[in-house]
Amino acid sequence: MKCYTHSEVDAVGFCRVCGRALCRDCVAEVSGICCCKGRCEASVKTWKQYQAELVQYRAGFRTFVEGFARSVGNLIVTAVAILLLLVGGIAKSSHEEANATGNLLILVGVVLLARGLYLFYKARRAKKHTTPPVLPHD
Ligand SMILES: [Zn+2]
Ligand SMILES: [Zn+2]
Repeated sequence: MKCYTHSEVDAVGFCRVCGRALCRDCVAEVSGICCCKGRCEASVKTWKQYQAELVQYRAGFRTFVEGFARSVGNLIVTAVAILLLLVGGIAKSSHEEANATGNLLILVGVVLLARGLYLFYKARRAKKHTTPPVLPHD
């Protein structure tokens, strides 16, 4: 295989962008990718930049989804806690014999509700940390 430009010189590799055979003088390497010197270098740089942006975008999206899933999970737990409190309260007031069950439901409900409120509080504090600090006035 000979170089695309220099037909008498042996090629050392192929351009990953346009596929031309390249000799030692014609080849360039951008982030470990072989390409035409001066001709396809810019394309590889743009492609690499695009890839880096894509990775960054994906990471940001994942953080957003994880945060959202946590909030929804916490919301469900809190809703279940309120439901347990309601059911426990109703059971306690309507049946004398269901008192023990009602107490247990209320206990679990209170624990879950406390956990939910604590997580909400923690999430709000975490959000406050990400905002830039306000400079003190004199
Ligand atoms: Zn060449
Ligand atoms: Zn090329």
